[in-house]
Amino acid sequence: MKSVLNQPELCNEEAAIAYVEARLWPDGAVCPHCGVIGEATKLKGKTTRPGLWKCRACRKPFTVRMGTVFESSHVPMHIWIQAMYLMCASKKGIATRQLHRTFGGSLKTAWFLGHRIREAMTVLKVDDSGPFGGGQLGGENEVVEADETFVGGKARNRKGKIPPKTPVLSLVERDGRVRSFRVPDVTAQTLKPIIVSHVNKATYLMTDDAPVYWAIGDQFSGHGTVNHSAEEYVRAAFWHTNTVENFFSIFKRGIYGCYFHVSEGHLHRYAAEFDFRHNNRIGLGIDDQTRTDRAILGAKGKRLTYETTALTRRETPPPF
Ligand SMILES: [Zn+2]
Repeated sequence: MKSVLNQPELCNEEAAIAYVEARLWPDGAVCPHCGVIGEATKLKGKTTRPGLWKCRACRKPFTVRMGTVFESSHVPMHIWIQAMYLMCASKKGIATRQLHRTFGGSLKTAWFLGHRIREAMTVLKVDDSGPFGGGQLGGENEVVEADETFVGGKARNRKGKIPPKTPVLSLVERDGRVRSFRVPDVTAQTLKPIIVSHVNKATYLMTDDAPVYWAIGDQFSGHGTVNHSAEEYVRAAFWHTNTVENFFSIFKRGIYGCYFHVSEGHLHRYAAEFDFRHNNRIGLGIDDQTRTDRAILGAKGKRLTYETTALTRRETPPPF
């Protein structure tokens, strides 16, 4: 048998660094100080830390970790790739305690590792191009389903105090991509600007018959509504919101079955993780390995410090 876990980039530190360099620097080492490409020398020697380069233009040292979610991390690169592989290959995600049991170290390290990988999976902005599903959703002759779900609010481990549920809005293309948003409420004032900027005007919008969507639907080429309370749950092959409901079902099974400590302040990052796996799913021809490579590409240009991550938490502290 040939286990995918035996691949050199998952077992060997030098191979892991070379693997990440090949993906983030396809045209040669990029100096993060002066931006010059392919003009650096790899420093070698027993006293030199692995993956250290020196720029011939500005004479400054650098590594491939700089300016990525890997920066300022003491976790070896092959462990990073192992953790990314696990999170990319598991449909419902990997719990912090599982990362901790698998990789050792402290729970704090495991928790922060998970959040930085989620950050790598996050789409930065609507005009982002590349493998992260940037640009607007939908288009001519395409249907985008919009719906909201509520996460949290369970009394478990919270000393009887039940925090309010947090709404998440998801926009899903049929047979395509998904984009989810943690929102403060589900008023038209909140949802309209998000839907209008992320969904192409030529799209046919499909929602339930909540009044909040009435003022939003007229911004699109068509607007269909599904009445969930009526017996015609699926009126026809066309008028339904099954795609977004199926996505919510995986999202919620993952959140409740795996992540017990999801707090409002981190919910957007968990949503990004489930978006990422949906947008890079096997049904679109993307296998576990390719999905992991795409998460590695997503590490570029993003930083997440422990301080800013921990500060965004509310209600529930991380599990340590
Ligand atoms: Zn330089």
